[in-house]
Amino acid sequence: MPTLLKFLLVFLLLAAAGTTWAQAPATAPAPATAQPAFDVEAATQAYLSTLTPAQKASSDAYFEGGYWLLLIDVLYAVGIAAVFLGLGLSRRLRAWTERLPRRFLRTLAYAAAYLLLAWLLSFPLAVYEGYFREHQYGLSNQRFGQWLSENLTSLALNVVFGSLLILALYAAIRRAGSRWWVWGTGIVGAFLVISIFLGPVFVSPLFNKYTPLPASPVRAAILRMARANGVPADNVYLVDASRQSKRISANVSGIGSTIRVSLNDNLLRRSTPQEVQAVMGHELGHYVLNHIQKMLVFFIVLIGLGLWALDWAFTRLVARYGPRWGVADRADVGGLPLAVALLAVLSFLATPVLNTIIRTQEQEADMFGLNAARQPDGFATIAMKLSEYRKIDPAPLEEALFFDHPSGHTRVHTAMRWKAEHLGEK
Ligand SMILES: [Zn+2]
Repeated sequence: MPTLLKFLLVFLLLAAAGTTWAQAPATAPAPATAQPAFDVEAATQAYLSTLTPAQKASSDAYFEGGYWLLLIDVLYAVGIAAVFLGLGLSRRLRAWTERLPRRFLRTLAYAAAYLLLAWLLSFPLAVYEGYFREHQYGLSNQRFGQWLSENLTSLALNVVFGSLLILALYAAIRRAGSRWWVWGTGIVGAFLVISIFLGPVFVSPLFNKYTPLPASPVRAAILRMARANGVPADNVYLVDASRQSKRISANVSGIGSTIRVSLNDNLLRRSTPQEVQAVMGHELGHYVLNHIQKMLVFFIVLIGLGLWALDWAFTRLVARYGPRWGVADRADVGGLPLAVALLAVLSFLATPVLNTIIRTQEQEADMFGLNAARQPDGFATIAMKLSEYRKIDPAPLEEALFFDHPSGHTRVHTAMRWKAEHLGEK
């Protein structure tokens, strides 16, 4: 096959060269001016100006508030560590778990109790961010009871799987000493792969219902596009995201046999068939370009760096303040609140890097989607609709630091450039 491919390529190159040399004078391509004039910048601006000043102000405020929340979240995480270490909560918790007969039980009990108490302490901030703020900007469909019950479901999952992960990490610390972070990277990586694999099958159905797309001309167009790009039609689902939110969205989740594309019902309800196709083209891009698998590789490298940095900072802080906080060394589970706070600080510092990795994939999926769906105007109008929850026209540096998706401006511009360069094609 590769030989055939090489032969074909050489043949095509020769053929291309041949036509250029031999036929250039006879059949010069039609000059670009034969096409109707299309000004990419003007078309982009025309789309951007469809947002009213009030809509723009609200979307800017919502998104920029998110920048401050990044900072507030990390300060809050440090505050929680201070309650555990400075006020002696950790010491008391460890004394209480010390009565248990086996070391692994003590570690497990401390970890579970820590996760529960940390959840309680961060509850006020979580209610503001996840409930009140979403309602304030008209993005949520949830009543408080429903929000709370979902939050408790996540808590249960976090306590069970979080304590097991913590137990595994402390086992690595006790076995490998200062090299634990190498083992730790493998352990966290394995948890990550397992949770991505199980997510769509066991976790997401706890919060939403996933069904096959209802029969419609839109469905036919979507499945046609999916098959044309090598994605099996059974791997496309509809999710009732309107249970929680008004947001238009779609995503790819799972890995291996559980990988799937999910379109949310807000998207199907609030969008034109052209817009749905544009979004579906983007999601197919994630699927076909193996973005989840590539992201896993990036994440595992970042986790390795993060755990190494965590150990570096932890060792220095405990050498100095350990006696005051009642933390003996890295193998002492009483130091867990410090480790979690340090991880919060490190991931805060890594935010621009993470955002840029994700945003780059998103941009690739945008390009793929434009080529697959060939709906530049549908793509542009949907990019405008997403301005409900994403600032539409940030400064370039702001986009580089804070955006995990291209901004509306970037997306509309990409679509209009594609349109300009494909005018008149069928
Ligand atoms: Zn995407």
